[in-house]
Parts: sequence; structure tokens; C-alpha cells
Amino acid sequence: MTVINVAKGTSISRSDNQHITIVGGGMVGLSLALMLAKRLPDAIAVSLIEKFPFPSVEQKKESFVEKIHQASFDARSTAISAGSAALLASIDCWDALAAQAEAINTIHISDRGHYASTQLDAQEQEVDALGYVVENHFLGHCLLQQLQQSRVKVIAPAIVERCQFTQQDVKILLAAESSNNQNKQQVIATDLLIIADGADSPLCRSMGIDSHKKNYQQSAIIANVALDKPHKGIAYERFTDQGPLALLPLSNCEQQHRAALVWTRNNEEANRLASVSDGNFLNELQQAMGHRAGKLTHIGERNMYPLTLVQSSEQVRSRVVVMGNAAHFLHPVAGQGFNLSLRDCATLVDVLVDVLVEALTKNNRVNKQNINTCIDVGELAILQRYLSRREADQHRTIALTDAMVKTFSSTELSRSVFRQMGLLGLNAMPTAKKILAKQMMGMV
Ligand SMILES: Cc1cc2nc3c(=O)[nH]c(=O)nc-3n(C[C@H](O)[C@H](O)[C@H](O)COP(=O)(O)OP(=O)(O)OC[C@H]3O[C@@H](n4cnc5c(N)ncnc54)[C@H](O)[C@@H]3O)c2cc1C
Repeated sequence: MTVINVAKGTSISRSDNQHITIVGGGMVGLSLALMLAKRLPDAIAVSLIEKFPFPSVEQKKESFVEKIHQASFDARSTAISAGSAALLASIDCWDALAAQAEAINTIHISDRGHYASTQLDAQEQEVDALGYVVENHFLGHCLLQQLQQSRVKVIAPAIVERCQFTQQDVKILLAAESSNNQNKQQVIATDLLIIADGADSPLCRSMGIDSHKKNYQQSAIIANVALDKPHKGIAYERFTDQGPLALLPLSNCEQQHRAALVWTRNNEEANRLASVSDGNFLNELQQAMGHRAGKLTHIGERNMYPLTLVQSSEQVRSRVVVMGNAAHFLHPVAGQGFNLSLRDCATLVDVLVDVLVEALTKNNRVNKQNINTCIDVGELAILQRYLSRREADQHRTIALTDAMVKTFSSTELSRSVFRQMGLLGLNAMPTAKKILAKQMMGMV
């Protein structure tokens, strides 16, 4: 790793090693760093820069939760598809996660006030589980545990201020407060810069990479809910006049049956709900949910997320790839954002591995130790190869999510009828159900 402290006017030199540097240590940045470190040879260095300090995983789980600041690892839970579970297993995170993850055996989809409903079953789809639900802070704990054992060079806390591009590399300039010596600006030279600094990325904007936004005028309220009976691995997806509501099965805590709530409401309603008492909130929730999941007995801390579809106008440039929320920030209705990004990460690593293998087979003087001398990981053609492999899945997943928001948030009669027909149609058409299940499981 080349970290250079430069006083104004000092020239910068770079070592011969190839470097990949990720900006942003959220769920996506961490997962990608681990995949790169695991699958690429040591001659290609991997670094990660994060604004907040990473807590030590030796700390007790409770204090780890207090100490973690990254946006990804807050009080939310994430529905992980079976495909994502396999990718997390490939970076040795799944064994620990599985101990706490709750399997989704059934997804029950219904429309409040109407008869039609449908159900996706793991057994019917011939899989062990349709997906798994993990609490984000525990996912963070497992990813950091692996990071500490990996060869990834971590630079945290440090804020990337801007980047300068040259023919040979990218110079990443850290904010002065990140440096030990305030008179010198820390500069990191890298061959490939991965931007994973979150939605509406400031770093992208500083490079003139715009984003397209579609404000849904909705917010998601998330909280953990206690139930009076076991959830039996059922995830409920319920569509109400004001927006979709999901109740995902969570592992028991202190012998309490729990579920993770994601309730989407228009902004005004979400603000109102955020301020009502726990008792009133539970009453309204129970009314919207009905009694399928049982009686809702307690509600934990409530958090709110404004919802906008944000898509970066460019995902690759020479020496740059935009990933995670910085590339596409999705509505959580279908629980696809992280799953989609994990597939992006895996493909980028696949493409880099393919390029390395091609170089090894073409030139017999090249080996794993000197491979860095004959490829350039920041080459635009390589990055375009990555994007062309990802475009179809990205378009499909974003379109499905957007269509679900439109169809299932609307009070228009035509959409309501369409919704009913859709649910009944799914029951009558096992093939359509299979396609939907495969997309939700990240297996298309
Ligand atoms: C309510 C809700 C529910 C969701 N549920 C699901 C689900 O069930 N399933 C699913 O697949 N997805 C779900 N998602 C989506 C998922 O949360 C995101 O895909 C994921 O958080 C994206 O992580 P990220 O690493 O790209 O971005 P972030 O989590 O935003 O991380 C960005 C990181 O970059 C750092 N950073 C920013 N700027 C700088 C800088 N200049 N220098 C250094 N570091 C910097 C930040 O500190 C942060 O740690 C949900 C989202 C929401 C809002």
C-alpha cells in the first residue's frame, strides 16, 4: 500500500504493485473487500477507506452495537436471498451468521381488505429456504470479524475529500483532519477506485457523475416487534392503501418471538406514526396487519427512512467503479438492494479473476507473484466487461421493485383490481410463481 504524506508541491511516487481501493466500509464495501482479498492473488493489494472508526469485534456484542456508526449496520434487519447466503459463505461469513439468521420458509402476500392472497413456499420451490433474515448489526459484526483476519489494508477513520486522475492511477486525497500531520495531506495512489460511499454519493458528484432520482414521497418505518406466538418462518408482505408492510421472521431474543417490521407510508403519515405512543402505534399496526401473525405485543425503537430511487448515471469509468447504494438505491419493498449489490460485487471479482487467468494462460513467464506487472485492473475495457454482465439483472431488479411500489401503494381502482388479479393469477400459474420466487431468491 502506498500512503504518502505530501507537503504542497511534493511529487508522489507509486510502487509497482496493483492496488484496488474501496471508499466506504458499509455492507457493500466490506463484502467486496473480502471477496477481492480472498480471490485475487496477494500481488494485487486491497484497501478500504471508511469515514468512521471500526469497533473491535472482541468487544461484547452489545457494546459493538453502540460503537458502530456505519449507516449499513443500524437497527434494521436484512432479508438475504439464498444466493446471497452462498456469496456470504464464500467469504466465510455464513457459518457465524447462520447461527443467528432466521430462515424464511414461506412468503405470504396479501392485500388488506381483499380476499386474494398468495403464498411462496420453500418446499414448493424445492429449496431449503426462500431466504434468511439477519439483523444488520450482527451482519456488520461478522463482516468485521473476517476483515480483521484478512489481508485488506484498512484506513479508518479517514474521509476521502476528492480524487485526481492521471493516466497511470487515481490519487485519493484524504481530508486534512484524517491525517496525523495537519500540514500534510495524505494521498493514496490506486489503480482502481471503487466508490461505495452510499446513496447520492458525494464522491461521484465531485467527479461529475450525476444521479437520476425518483422520489416516492414515502418513508419506511422500521422496528422490531414482539409476537405472542412463533412466526414459523413466515414472512408477511401485506399491501395496504397507504403502502406495503412487511413483517419478517427474526430469531427469538430472551425467549420472545420476534419479527422485523418495514412499514412504508406516505411521508405525512410516516411522520405522524413516528410520534405516536408505542401503544397507539401497535394498535394501528395490528389493524393494518390483521391477526395472521398473531397478537403484536411490544414494539422496539422506531426508525424512519425517506424513500427515493437513486441511480447513478455512470457506473464505470477508466479506473472507477460505482457500487452499492452509490450505484443504485432501491425501495426496500422487495428486500433487493443488498442482494443486488452482492451479485454486482461477485461479478466484478469474477471478471478480474477471468482477466488474470487469461493473462496467465497467454504468457508463460507470468505467475501469481508477478501477475501485477502484466495487467491493469483499472482498464476501462475490463470494467465495461463487468457492467455488461450486470446490466440485465440490475434493470430487471430495479424494474420489479419499482413496479411493486407502484402497484401495491396505489388506491386507484384499476391498480387495486390488477393487484387482486395478480395475486389470484399467481396461485393459478405455478410457472409465474416460480419466476417470481427465483427473482426474490436472487437466482435468475
Ligand atoms: C429500510 C430499509 C430496509 C432494507 N432492507 C433490505 C433487505 O431486506 N434486503 C436487501 O437486500 N436490502 C435491503 N435494504 C438495502 C440495503 O440496506 C443497502 O443495499 C445497503 O445498506 C447498501 O450499503 P452500502 O455499503 O452501499 O452503503 P452505506 O451503508 O450507505 O455505506 C456507505 C459507507 O461509506 C462511508 N463513507 C461515506 N462517505 C465517505 C467518505 N467520503 N470517505 C470515507 N467513507 C465514506 C459511510 O460512512 C458508510 O459506512 C434496505 C434498505 C432500507 C433503507
